[in-house]
Amino acid sequence: MTRRQRLETLFAQAAGYIDQQTAGVVPAIQPSTTFVRDENYDLLRDNNIYARDDNDIVRLAEKILATAENARDALVFPTGMAAIAALFRTTRAGQTIIMQSQIYWGTTKWVREYCERRAIKLIEQDTSKTDETVSLIAAEKPALVFIETPSNPWLRVTDIGAVAAATTDAGGILGVDSTAAGPAISNPLDLGAHIVMHSGTKSINGHSDVLAGVLAVDDETRPVWQDIKVDRHDAGAVIGSFEAYLLIRGMRTLPLRMERMSENAMAVAQYLQAHDEVDHVFYPGLESHEAHALAKKQMHNGFGPLLSFTVKGDKQRALDAVGKLHLFKRATSLGGVESLVEHRFTIESTTGIPETLLRLSVGIEHIEDLIADLETALS
Ligand SMILES: *Cc1c(COP(=O)(O)O)cnc(C)c1O
Repeated sequence: MTRRQRLETLFAQAAGYIDQQTAGVVPAIQPSTTFVRDENYDLLRDNNIYARDDNDIVRLAEKILATAENARDALVFPTGMAAIAALFRTTRAGQTIIMQSQIYWGTTKWVREYCERRAIKLIEQDTSKTDETVSLIAAEKPALVFIETPSNPWLRVTDIGAVAAATTDAGGILGVDSTAAGPAISNPLDLGAHIVMHSGTKSINGHSDVLAGVLAVDDETRPVWQDIKVDRHDAGAVIGSFEAYLLIRGMRTLPLRMERMSENAMAVAQYLQAHDEVDHVFYPGLESHEAHALAKKQMHNGFGPLLSFTVKGDKQRALDAVGKLHLFKRATSLGGVESLVEHRFTIESTTGIPETLLRLSVGIEHIEDLIADLETALS
């Protein structure tokens, strides 16, 4: 699908949706799992047989997301991890996967176990090091390269265009977890990636009330895409009607929310960077970020809600600061309208996360209230 409208218009109008039965501007939630045939055993509605594969409201969510990503096709899954699993399950014993190191811990953990069970060679590489990564891809000829940019919680930025070109040359598929940016800020397929992935649980829904995952593809005739479609249908990782409804409802304001979150996150990053009690701020919007220039090229209308920083002192100092926050809720996840804070070391102590690192997901609250909250916590 080629995007003709700007993203604000596409999302606000749910890709021009009008309910055919009621003329409503909001899609109906159809809970039926099965669909009737007529007396000649013809389907009353073409393509509607059984809800594991056939669900109009899920198709609408997929159409909006495919259009937003300039994709040829998109599939919605019940969680982000289900989408990631469907992509990785296209690889076979004896093949090689290159995955970015130090990304979303749930991905790393699942992929490590999967590759071990399936006798797939897994190489974890810091893909923000472009030259090293390009050489590695040329040498290893991986079936799949998987990156996350910006990465969570380090906010590393990978050069999507360079890694995509190297992967294409090597005959592989590049998958990009674009959750931290989202479709209103970055469109990896436009830069040459083959498949873009999102946890729809995060900013796409944006209200912390539904789990969802997304895969979208640059060319629906790729064998890997056919495998993913068959996997979703046969293995049954489908989202329910009500969840798809919530996803669409949330998406209508996605560009607006991302704009405010990015503005707030930028202001918070600048405030933290100037603070005496703060050691280092990781945010691609800051000029001091190691890949700021690249981030500016790959991201538009802001740099997203996610940022990390280290406080001066020790683990207790970081936990004390977190304990004093009121507006930033102590909870995992990101991309919702409410601001969240996480002490990542408490969650994943074995992956090299500094004890003093705090990860923020900055919401859409008033910036002065957020900064006042941080001021109280850090002073
Ligand atoms: C949350 C998240 C996932 C997993 O998504 P779920 O919807 O929780 O399954 C994957 N990647 C990133 C970057 C995430 O933040």
